[in-house]
Amino acid sequence: MKPADIAELYRRLAIRNPNPRSELEYSSPFELLVAVVLSAQATDVSVNKATALLYPVANTPEKLLALGEEKLRGYIKTIGLYQTKAKNVIALCRQLLELHGGHVPHDRAALEALPGVGRKTANVVLNVAFGEPTIAVDTHIFRIANRTGLAPGTNPDKISEKLEKITPEPYRLHAHHWLILHGRYVCKARTPECWRCVISSLCRYKDKTPVAEAVPEPASRLRGRPVDLKKDSKNNSPGQSTATSAAKRRRQPR
Ligand code: SF4
Repeated sequence: MKPADIAELYRRLAIRNPNPRSELEYSSPFELLVAVVLSAQATDVSVNKATALLYPVANTPEKLLALGEEKLRGYIKTIGLYQTKAKNVIALCRQLLELHGGHVPHDRAALEALPGVGRKTANVVLNVAFGEPTIAVDTHIFRIANRTGLAPGTNPDKISEKLEKITPEPYRLHAHHWLILHGRYVCKARTPECWRCVISSLCRYKDKTPVAEAVPEPASRLRGRPVDLKKDSKNNSPGQSTATSAAKRRRQPR
């Protein structure tokens, strides 16, 4: 993709959501770190449900160590791979206390040396907790990078490096969240909602979903009003094509 198109892509995503936020709930770098470790192959919603009960009881390395692995498993058992994650979180707490005074290190190598923390988790923590312009590649960003032609590839780490290189400076800090939220709510894995995508004219994906495949709102939620795609398409904002107003409300990033 040409540099001018890359800048335009981010400009449009930025207009839609000027201050993107992580959907993980946390109130300290440590809570964020543990939440990101728990979120591997799990939804943010499932992690938030677990940490809403866990953090009031234990939200520091000392308290989690005192809680112990077995009790921690009880709090996170609704999250996939919870047994391995419980083991990693306890080991991570021990390492934070032994090597970093109980603080989350603002350092990539030190983060990646923690149990259960790889490049992706380190990038999220560096970006969200410390304001570093890193771009962690998860399943959503991997998909968008390839579909759009922004940074095609098969290796997430290489895609991450490429995205960090080609993303214009003013957009680097928030690029991670813009791309994740776009993938989560618009460029979905099974059926990308290309008909209402603000970057559609820049995207090189060959099989863009036409408006005819838009899923209508359930009748009960529209209080009996039939979906009129033609009529609703007139109300779209610039950059959007032909989404229904109802579909827009339902699919907007928070
Ligand atoms: S046009 Fe479609 S495939 Fe391309 S980024 Fe938008 S939703 Fe994804």
